[in-house]
Amino acid sequence: MRVGTGVDVHAFGPGTSLMLGGVRIPHDRGVLAHSDGDVILHALVDALLGAAALGDIGQHFPDSDPRWKDAESRLFVQATLAMLRDRGWRLINADITVIAQAPRITPWRAAIRTMLAQLLEVAEDCVNLKATTAERLGFLGREEGIAALATVLIDRV
Ligand code: MG
Repeated sequence: MRVGTGVDVHAFGPGTSLMLGGVRIPHDRGVLAHSDGDVILHALVDALLGAAALGDIGQHFPDSDPRWKDAESRLFVQATLAMLRDRGWRLINADITVIAQAPRITPWRAAIRTMLAQLLEVAEDCVNLKATTAERLGFLGREEGIAALATVLIDRV
C-alpha cells in the first residue's frame, strides 16, 4: 500500500462560478487559472501521483502547455488514474479538505462527493469531503482564494 498527499491553491478573480470536484458552483467570483482551476481535482491528482511516486501535476500537465488552456480538470484525473492503472495501482480511498471562507461547501457536499466517486471509479463510501473556513485569517480568510488538501491510499491490483 502507498499513501499520497496533495495541496492546491487558486486565487479568486472575476467570474460568477467556480469548479469544485468537477461540480460548477455559483459564486460572486471565479478563480484565476490556466485550466478550470478546480482545487479539489488538482490536489487529488497530486495525491495520486505522489502515492505512485510519479512526480506532480505541473510535470504532467504544465500550465505553459496550450493543450491545457481552460481544460476541464477531470481530464487530469482520468489521465492520472490511467497512469496508475498501467502501473498496477488502484485507489482505495480519498479524503479531501477544502479550506475557504467562501463559498460555503456544505450545500454542495453531497453532489461533489457523488461526482468524485464517479470520476475516481470507486464507491461513495471511499470518498470523503470536508470543509473548513480559515477563521478570517490570512489570504483564505480574506476571501482572496481557495485551497484544497487531498490524501489518498492506493494498493496493488
Ligand atoms: Mg491548481
